[in-house]
Amino acid sequence: MKINIGCHLSVSKGYTHMGKEACSIDANTFQFFTRNPRGGSFKPPTDEDINGLIEIMKENNFAPIIAHAPYTFNPCALDEGIRDYTKRTMAEDVKLLDKIPNAYYNFHPGCHVSQGVDVGIEKTADTINTILSQTEKTILLIETMAGKGTEIGKTFEEIKAIIDKVENKDRVGVCLDTCHIHDGGYDVVNDFDGVLKEFDRVIGIDKLKAIHLNDSKNPHGAHKDRHEKIGQGYLTLDAIVKIVSHPVVAKLPICLETPQDLDGYAQEIALLKEAVKSL
Ligand code: FE
Ligand code: FE
Ligand code: ZN
Repeated sequence: MKINIGCHLSVSKGYTHMGKEACSIDANTFQFFTRNPRGGSFKPPTDEDINGLIEIMKENNFAPIIAHAPYTFNPCALDEGIRDYTKRTMAEDVKLLDKIPNAYYNFHPGCHVSQGVDVGIEKTADTINTILSQTEKTILLIETMAGKGTEIGKTFEEIKAIIDKVENKDRVGVCLDTCHIHDGGYDVVNDFDGVLKEFDRVIGIDKLKAIHLNDSKNPHGAHKDRHEKIGQGYLTLDAIVKIVSHPVVAKLPICLETPQDLDGYAQEIALLKEAVKSL
């Protein structure tokens, strides 16, 4: 069995460089932050740099890549000034990604703070609608969250409620983070197939577009969101091999976000490819 696997890379040396780096660790997908995760200044890539990446992706049969919005953005912020900034900046990111044929834009649905889950869902859907109306084709991915603090998107029902309010449903999907849903209370260790059946029942499996593959430092249901290296946390290597070799997951881009450097990521990719080779 073959899987599409990669890891989180740094955008600091450009887009073409990330493509080369992915190839150097035997990855055929990767994820990157579109800009400094703590916000701040932004230098857009040149067309030449973007085209270099597109060429590498074509030559090496890449699965879709994932651009991650800075996690300081809050699509359902109470303060309308903050939410306008989030909308503007996310739309700017998506316009850039519209130049890449095979890229998703992943984001955290946000924290409702004091507004309640329903208002959070309403505002995040409105933010998505604004971004989609200003951009052309990139599919936005709502990431499943661990339910830390007032995060929305901690259950499949909350994600479905956001999608229900999105006008252009063809341009919205879901990225399943294995650490987050484990921390959120889904039994990914003993019954991953059951978790995907639940995803299908609530959201529809066609909406599942990408996987964030992480072990967790915390037990099932802890609502913590602390990623662990593959096989060193509560998920266990056995369960992780079952996840990546699930026929639904094996077709999707799988991105590691474990606390690793490039060598560590290369080892995790090799380990998982080897584990599914004979399946
Ligand atoms: Fe994330
Ligand atoms: Fe994630
Ligand atoms: Zn996380």
